[in-house]
Amino acid sequence: MMDYPLTVRTIYQRAQALFPGRQLVTRLPGGVRRTTYGEWAERVARLAGGLRDLGVGPGDRVATFCWNHDRHLEVYFAAALMGASYHTLNIRLGGDQLAYIVNHAKDKVLVCDAELAPAIGPVLPGLDTVEHVLVLDGDDGQRPDLGFGAEHGYEDLVERSAPMTAWPELDERQTAGICYTSATTGNPKGVAYSHRALYLHSLVVGLVDTAAISERDVLLPIVPMFHVNAWGMPFAATWFGAGQVYGGPAPTPADYLRLIRDEGVTVSAGVPTVWLGILQLLESDGGDLGPLQRIICGGSAAPVSMIRAYEERHGVEFVHAYGMTEATPVTHFSRLKSGMDDLPVEARYGYKAKQGLLVPGLEQRVVDADGDEVPADGKSMGELRLRGPSIASEYLDDPRSAQTFVDGWYHTGDVATVDQAGYLHVVDRTKDLVKSGGEWISSVELENALMGHPEVAQAAVIAVPDERWGERPLAVVVRKPGSEVGEAEVVASVAGKFPKWWLPERVEFVDEIPMTATGKFSKRLLRERFVSRLHEEEGSDER
Ligand code: ADP
Repeated sequence: MMDYPLTVRTIYQRAQALFPGRQLVTRLPGGVRRTTYGEWAERVARLAGGLRDLGVGPGDRVATFCWNHDRHLEVYFAAALMGASYHTLNIRLGGDQLAYIVNHAKDKVLVCDAELAPAIGPVLPGLDTVEHVLVLDGDDGQRPDLGFGAEHGYEDLVERSAPMTAWPELDERQTAGICYTSATTGNPKGVAYSHRALYLHSLVVGLVDTAAISERDVLLPIVPMFHVNAWGMPFAATWFGAGQVYGGPAPTPADYLRLIRDEGVTVSAGVPTVWLGILQLLESDGGDLGPLQRIICGGSAAPVSMIRAYEERHGVEFVHAYGMTEATPVTHFSRLKSGMDDLPVEARYGYKAKQGLLVPGLEQRVVDADGDEVPADGKSMGELRLRGPSIASEYLDDPRSAQTFVDGWYHTGDVATVDQAGYLHVVDRTKDLVKSGGEWISSVELENALMGHPEVAQAAVIAVPDERWGERPLAVVVRKPGSEVGEAEVVASVAGKFPKWWLPERVEFVDEIPMTATGKFSKRLLRERFVSRLHEEEGSDER
């Protein structure tokens, strides 16, 4: 066989050759922008030519500070095809972390949205390696002045540059893109995606037993393109010729719902908090999800009540997925095996709420503290470890790599069980488990059950120190609008589902739960708020 390199050029060339008329739609505050793969491919070649003229060469890095849109996809491909790499910056990070990431990755060019100028402007003076800043036009066709010396209009550059047509021959192992993941403590850690990893991961998400992205689909990636390549979905959609719809700047749940209904979206991917928001909106507007056929939901555990609501009330197939930045990112999809369709409804949704089956091409082990594999009985818990061609082997230039990548395996830090049918169930992150009286309580399972209460909008559970038991669970709950539901009723609603000692003694009602930069409940901020407060209260207790 030919030793043919697995690079993203194949993805680009196929879309250009076979699907030139297929549409890419981007929501703008004042309407939508429509383009096609044909026009997009031409612009990618011009952008690459423009970047080359600015001095970008093989191995250089082009940072993006952008919302989801077709231009963002141009940068992904232009940088990767010319032998450089794109580096997505999370627009929700603070200035210090952004500066750290850009300096650590040694980014040479930074591309940013006009709408995000106020966030990135103050960071620019602290960037040591950035030589050029490209600013996209705002909705009004204007672009702000960031006061950076070598600042260019992105549109001007694309318009005036000669297209790069002779793409360099690339090594499949070279880096195509970079994403940093938040660390619990310390600075973010970078993961470099090779062409080969993106290629293989894109194939995987097209399989009918995974996300099944096909030419007949119109994909709305709600998951940000600054977060692990929007789960690789835009690469897959481009390869297979699916239409794509992007949320543009600062989209709201109402914007997503409108895009789904108006733009013929058949499949969409996002984190549970986004789907909870859209579900609430559907409940109040009484409408339907139009052409939507499938929801891909991951990033944190999808509550079973939400899965059922989408499938039973809205007739949409709900596919729970699991993965992480270090895995390009999706490693598991939960779909029922043949023979499971006839199971009682509770059992069926029990499987769908698990993280699911390992995708083809990867290996997994769930191991105990001694590193021995635990039995696949759906009960025995252990840490999940992974290896395969789309799993990172190190963090970018980071001494912390040695703790996480050991003997050829990536240690996920997630505690999981595997049942007899092979379905992975993520019990918790190691650091979020509650250890009460020497036994583990899963914060995730409590949260999911609490979110099943009809008057609970969101629930997060954290461990709080307890003199007698070591730790106890504390539930932090956001009520639905107009609800007055109280602590006792909320706890009683989940009482039948868990052993008595799992139930939280305390529920704190809040207006909102703080989110991480990647849209998950920030347990760190909750711990900061409630654990220190409880300590203070205990300190003032005179008993
Ligand atoms: P971070 O959010 O920390 O920046 P990632 O997005 O890479 O980084 O998060 C990956 C982690 O998110 C996983 O290790 C796991 O703990 C959690 N996670 C992802 N998907 C799911 C899911 N479907 N169910 C439960 N946990 C999930």
